[in-house]
Amino acid sequence: MSETILKVENLSKNYKMGEVTVKALDNASFEVSKGEFIVILGPSGSGKSTLLNIMGGMDTPSSGNVYFNNELLTTMNDKGLTQYRRNKIGFVFQFYNLMASLTARENVELATEICEESIDIEDVIESVGLKDRIDHFPSQMSGGEQQRVAIARAVAKNPQILLCDEPTGALDFETGISILKVLKDVNIKYKNTIVVITHNSPIAQMADKVIKMRSGKIIEIIENKNPIEPERIEW
Ligand code: ADP
Ligand code: MG
Repeated sequence: MSETILKVENLSKNYKMGEVTVKALDNASFEVSKGEFIVILGPSGSGKSTLLNIMGGMDTPSSGNVYFNNELLTTMNDKGLTQYRRNKIGFVFQFYNLMASLTARENVELATEICEESIDIEDVIESVGLKDRIDHFPSQMSGGEQQRVAIARAVAKNPQILLCDEPTGALDFETGISILKVLKDVNIKYKNTIVVITHNSPIAQMADKVIKMRSGKIIEIIENKNPIEPERIEW
């Protein structure tokens, strides 16, 4: 039996824009099992980032609940949420948000300084394929290499869940595949649960579970018994 790490229950988020209310997220429910590789798939504006931000304790819902290991996140105070974000979650974004004045190693080190647990920095950097770039600055690296540093930075905190918002969105096709491969390698090696947001439907082929969204709603949840390697995705 797979253990549930995250449970999302009837989650909604509304934004009031003058007279109109935008339902960014509309009654979303699903569960994430420990170690799962999940893809959240949907067009731009379908509520993917809103959902991910609430799962990561970066935003609060209008209604509904999120449970992390059976603990209710949505009533947690700010201190609890800060601890959750810092120690349990790793974030990867479309734009890598590295510190320009720090090397790859220093960017990763900085992230581990304030968290409870961390794993060997050189080991993580090697795992994302950047051993020979460890002392380079972001300006000396390609987009794909910078995203590898961002992944290493997130993974070095030994988070239980890695939340990735369009991690390949700023990259060319081949580089995007290499980043998906890094995420899959991390999933296998460090056993983190991984959630990847994309609007690119073929990427769903590599997921254990696909959550399809349209207009704030989950329209389908697909369990994939035979996820395929990123390099074998049919585009
Ligand atoms: P996606 O990540 O799938 O592109 P988002 O979660 O960013 O979608 O947005 C879902 C909807 O919520 C969109 O209609 C967007 O315009 C709206 N939205 C998101 N954030 C805000 C905000 N801070 N204020 C108002 N509307 C927002
Ligand atoms: Mg988004």
